[in-house]
Amino acid sequence: MPIICPTCSYSRSWKVRRSKRKCKRCRHEFSSNIYPVKDIRSTIDDWQKCIHVFIRQRAILTISEETGIGHCRIASMVDILRQCMASDIPGRFNGPVELDETYIGGQRKNKCLHIRRIKAKRGHGTDKLPIMGVFDRSSKQVYIEVMPVKLSMYHLFRITNSKLIHGTLIITDGYKMYRGFKARGFKHEYVDHDGGEYVRGEIHTNNIEGFWGILKRKLGCIGGVRRNRLHLFVAEIVWNFNHKSLTYQQQEKLLLDLVIKFGGLIQ
Ligand SMILES: [Zn+2]
Repeated sequence: MPIICPTCSYSRSWKVRRSKRKCKRCRHEFSSNIYPVKDIRSTIDDWQKCIHVFIRQRAILTISEETGIGHCRIASMVDILRQCMASDIPGRFNGPVELDETYIGGQRKNKCLHIRRIKAKRGHGTDKLPIMGVFDRSSKQVYIEVMPVKLSMYHLFRITNSKLIHGTLIITDGYKMYRGFKARGFKHEYVDHDGGEYVRGEIHTNNIEGFWGILKRKLGCIGGVRRNRLHLFVAEIVWNFNHKSLTYQQQEKLLLDLVIKFGGLIQ
């Protein structure tokens, strides 16, 4: 492929310095490196090296050590990688699906005294960040949404209408907000945890509860995430969960394609 001048798009140029070329027609000096993502001066080779270590869930400093790229650039690359993972969401589920929510926030014993004095609420009344999750039993995929505000019917039906095929069987716990699915054209079954019922044949929410276990353990290892960046870390864990049947080589290739697609979007 000939290298084209960015100013006059002439195809003939010569090499001047390490990675610089000079156009034969307009004498403009330009870099022969191609950067897939604008504003980050990393070539495809750099991205490949970064993804190779990142996919094995290493810290930023470890990636920097193993690739020889500075840790500041690696930090912005890893941020882009997480945004790519967040943009790669599975298609509509055709169920049966399990739907549940959880709350992410620090432990109460670590908080200030004036917060600890207020009576604690567990579950739906808490001031932690709500996360809504859907697990599809046929494809074994998970779709997660982090809510910046308190859960409401509006959010719930926006997720079910956009992510589920009409008439899907939805299995939930006994929370009262979930009782409106039947009126909106979905089949609905629930297990009443308050009544001591957790499994009734095929009706249970154990798969999504198992995913909450994975999510919370992994977030605990990261050790402190800001509220406005939580969705990126959750997206990474969800992406790894949804692609766990692929080998590392296949995952690397997928992620590199996502980066090139992501760069094409913002340029
Ligand atoms: Zn030129």
